[in-house]
Order: sequence, then structure tokens, then C-alpha cells
Amino acid sequence: MRKKIIAGNWKMNKTVQDAVELANAIKLDLAGCKEVDVVLCPPFTALKAVSDVVSETLISVGAQNMSSEDDGAYTGEISHTMLKELFVRYVILGHSERREYYKETDLWINKKMKKALEKNLRPILCVGEKLEVREAGETESVVEEQVREGLKDIPAAAYTELVIAYEPVWAIGTGKTASSEQAQEVHAFIRGIVKDMVGKDAADAVRIQYGGSMKPANAGELLAQPDIDGGLIGGAALEARSFVDIVKAGI
Ligand code: PEP
Repeated sequence: MRKKIIAGNWKMNKTVQDAVELANAIKLDLAGCKEVDVVLCPPFTALKAVSDVVSETLISVGAQNMSSEDDGAYTGEISHTMLKELFVRYVILGHSERREYYKETDLWINKKMKKALEKNLRPILCVGEKLEVREAGETESVVEEQVREGLKDIPAAAYTELVIAYEPVWAIGTGKTASSEQAQEVHAFIRGIVKDMVGKDAADAVRIQYGGSMKPANAGELLAQPDIDGGLIGGAALEARSFVDIVKAGI
């Protein structure tokens, strides 16, 4: 039985003060939540403050990106050491916005995945097709390549630590959600690829989140699907009530 994981990706939103307020409001309801793993991913600038707010709770903190390098002349980058110093446990890697605007490639994302795992951070690998890919009937081939390349050479034992997030790009921030059938179909497909890559035990263990306009109104149905093990939430994670309600839909 896989434990559900709901992560809020706050993207480039919330000042430190706003982040503390939001984290405190979420903490009121979810501090002791055992049934679902709850992860808050504020911007880098608010990681320390949010870590402090949730320090005595079961809520974890995640970053939205990480350098593939250990240290050195990489202006503007943030390393695993720096994240761990702020009690970060998870890191979102390969989000579609980073693939699109910052030209992150599967090869580069794979390097970050390996670095995160080597340093005991739990990476959330984002994959998903654009609208034109879905309309051309190429969803499976595109998602398969992202999964195989992103997870290349990662040993089976690591699949209990890492998380995959299936996020159809056409559903992110658009209000359009994949139907629970559409999402389930791709989740099962991804689990099949993992099985082919590293075996049944790892495929059964790995958690696959859905992301793309998930909200309280559709979370229950999506989270009831057999291969949907949680959600990566953007817009609805910026407000405590809607985020808490999504988590509760997963209990
Ligand atoms: C995301 O960007 O990870 C996301 C799922 O955003 P939203 O929930 O706003 O569609």
C-alpha cells in the first residue's frame, strides 16, 4: 500500500511573511497528519522560515529546483548542501516550466535526480506532454522518453525515495484537469515503464503524483484512482483552505 503524497508548489509566489502565514495556517490543520505525506515547496527565499514553522510537525519542506553540481562557480544556483542546511527533504526536478523557460533537458534533469538521491534528498521528477503532443496522439512516446531518460541508471532501491509527478502541461494553471480516466491511463503506463526498467517491486513501490489544476472539487476522484498516489498542486496550494481540503481528500 503506497502512502499518498500531496505537495504544494508555490512557484514564484509569497514573500517570507506571506509564506510564514500560509505555512502556519496549513499547520493548524495538518501538523499531525499521518495518513498522507504533506510537503510544502516555497521559493528558496522562504525555505528557512517555512522549515522553522513546520519543524515540530509531520509536514516536510521541499525546494523547487536544485543544482546538479556540488559547489563552485555557478552563479544563481543552489546546491544540495545549501538545501539540506535548511532542513529541506524533497526537491521538485524537471518541472515543465523549467523545461520550457530554462531549457532543462532530460539529461540534465537525470544528473540532478542522481545528485539528489546520492545526497539523501527525495526528488520529485516531473513529466508530462504538451497539448500539441496529446492532440497528435504522441502522449505515450513523449512521456516514456521523459521517464526513461529522467530515471536512467537509477537503481531499483531508490524508487521508494523518489516520486514521479505526471503533469500534463495543458492542464497546468489552465483550469483544465485531465479526467480521472485520462490521468489513470498515463499513471498506469508510467508504472509499466518503471516495471520494465527496474522490476515489479520498484514499480509497485514508486509513488506517482498527478499535477494539473487539481483542486478540492476534483481531488477525491483523481486520488481514488489505483495508480494515482498523490498530487503536485500549484494554484490551489497558495491558499490554506483549498490545500488542506485536497490533502483531506487523500485521507
Ligand atoms: C504545477 O505547476 O505543478 C501545477 C500542478 O500547477 P496547477 O495546480 O496550478 O495547475
